[in-house]
Amino acid sequence: MRPVTDSNAIRRGVQLCLEQYLASVHVTLPYLVCLSKYSGIPIGNLGEDPLGRVFDVHFTQFLSKNKCVSWASLDPFPDLGTESSGLVHQDDDESTICILRNKGVYRSICVELDVRRLLVAALFNSEDSAIFGKRANQLSDKHTDFGGGLFLGDETSCSIAVAIFRQLLQKYLKDLSLDGDEEDSPAAELLEHVYRIVASPNTLLHDPTFHRCLQKLMRDVFLQLLSSLQTFGCLVVYGSFSRIVVCTKKVGLHAAKEYIDFILSTLKQQDNTQHLHIRPNRVWSHYIFMDEYNYGGVEFQMREEDEISDEEFGKDYVTTIGSMLFVPTVVGHWNMKEYLTEDVSRAYFQTIIGRFSREAFKKQMTLLSECANSVEKEEEISSEILKFVKRQVSVHFTNDLTRMLSELIREGGDASSFPTLPGSHLPLSNPALEFTKTIMSILELDEDVQHESHVLRRSALTQLGIREYSQSTIFRNPCAEFILTDLFCTECVETRDLNLCIGGVTITENDDGSSTAKKTEWLCDECDNPYDANEIEWRLIDLIQKESVQFQLQDLRCTKTGKVARGCLSKESECSAPWKPDIPNNKLVKRIKILQNLARFHGLNNLLESCTGLLHNYTES
Ligand SMILES: [Zn+2]
Repeated sequence: MRPVTDSNAIRRGVQLCLEQYLASVHVTLPYLVCLSKYSGIPIGNLGEDPLGRVFDVHFTQFLSKNKCVSWASLDPFPDLGTESSGLVHQDDDESTICILRNKGVYRSICVELDVRRLLVAALFNSEDSAIFGKRANQLSDKHTDFGGGLFLGDETSCSIAVAIFRQLLQKYLKDLSLDGDEEDSPAAELLEHVYRIVASPNTLLHDPTFHRCLQKLMRDVFLQLLSSLQTFGCLVVYGSFSRIVVCTKKVGLHAAKEYIDFILSTLKQQDNTQHLHIRPNRVWSHYIFMDEYNYGGVEFQMREEDEISDEEFGKDYVTTIGSMLFVPTVVGHWNMKEYLTEDVSRAYFQTIIGRFSREAFKKQMTLLSECANSVEKEEEISSEILKFVKRQVSVHFTNDLTRMLSELIREGGDASSFPTLPGSHLPLSNPALEFTKTIMSILELDEDVQHESHVLRRSALTQLGIREYSQSTIFRNPCAEFILTDLFCTECVETRDLNLCIGGVTITENDDGSSTAKKTEWLCDECDNPYDANEIEWRLIDLIQKESVQFQLQDLRCTKTGKVARGCLSKESECSAPWKPDIPNNKLVKRIKILQNLARFHGLNNLLESCTGLLHNYTES
């Protein structure tokens, strides 16, 4: 090893050491002391995840108080006294994902809401808690008959644990109110982290079945929340456990704010949603939504006066609410744009899609400033905008697209012109055709201009010399999907599901110019804090091994009657029909191939090795 001679490097090293020391003395230590006082656990025993440890100890205390056996285990599976618990508790990650998507173009104000403490709300949900409350009462009355037949499946084995867990959360809520609802009190921290702790395989009391059972309760309260929002007259554009986007159907920012404030205060008073923390995050107008990775529109960004530049179009339409300035800015998060060839197509894409929102917004603001606010006028304005957008698509975009396409046709290109990305899964070969399909897939989201879009699509395909109804003109998302659930961001304390085919960046680190190390990072889409790539890799290896085991252990069914095969050797069912597996071979192979591609792209060698091994087994047979 070469000695470090650079004085700057030494100075930087000393600075880092000092920063670390001061942070531990002034931030970490007081926090640990506070947590230790609250939980009664010595500081030295709090470990790497202090909140997880406090939860483990508290939950164990509650379990033993209720005369229940603890299942604490160092493995990711509960210690149930059997050898094969790992196989019994297969956690089917996919089935628990609950996402609502309403594709479309929303010309009125849309608001993105951050949702927190869904688990706490789920546990105290009036409908479900009636059942679990009954269980809890049975426990406190020292009744021993728990086989009431109220549940089936996971709920049967977890009903008592959930009831005790609810008591624990009740204690945290009580402690929080005694602390005066302080955001940084230990009870508040535990309530913020409790879902992450339950989901984390590193906690001693982690149990996949218990986790899945809680997710089902969360899904119930989540669906109730969505239906409440719809009762208030909102249109839910997108909904996941941590984020909901609603269309308010209001044109002005002031009216939309009042409306959202009213909804949030009403939800706070409702029994099933009172424990939820919902906060408006972003505000959009002329919002185009395809899925959570492909959306855009005019965003009202909160800024200081000196941050507004003279060149941007939004400076003429700044809205003031209280002391805050909201500047409309065209923003687009279009992942499928990355799959187009070269910068030219991407720049053209940006131009057309940006104008689709911006021009209509400008027209709307001009019309609003011309007339006073009244319901009739609002209707008049929306019909004017509709006329404007129709003309925009049928005249302006037709001219632009014809010009852009002739340039792309002149440039040519083949399969090698397309970028190879972690999510690439389609055989793409015609750059101009892919450009047309991508643009049209977005314009066609607007139901009001369907006829104009259709005419535009036909003329573009004629220019390309491709028949309108041929198979190659059907748009499919060029990016594959591989969702990993419950990824925790340490910065914004939020648990999210992430499509790993999107957003991962490979950084090349230069180690003193002598060697290079490749490092993969997936960033949190809220705060850009990197997730733990190592943890993601090992979770993916576990996941794909688990899916392989599920594939091996699956049932065969009769293709005629759908009955499960009981014998092992017969080639046909009792009614002489062939067998069919529940999970088809190609479904598993497709998922392994996506992961293999991902591993190759990001240099995740352990994952690559696992995937190649599995693929070898499945494609050979
Ligand atoms: Zn974050």
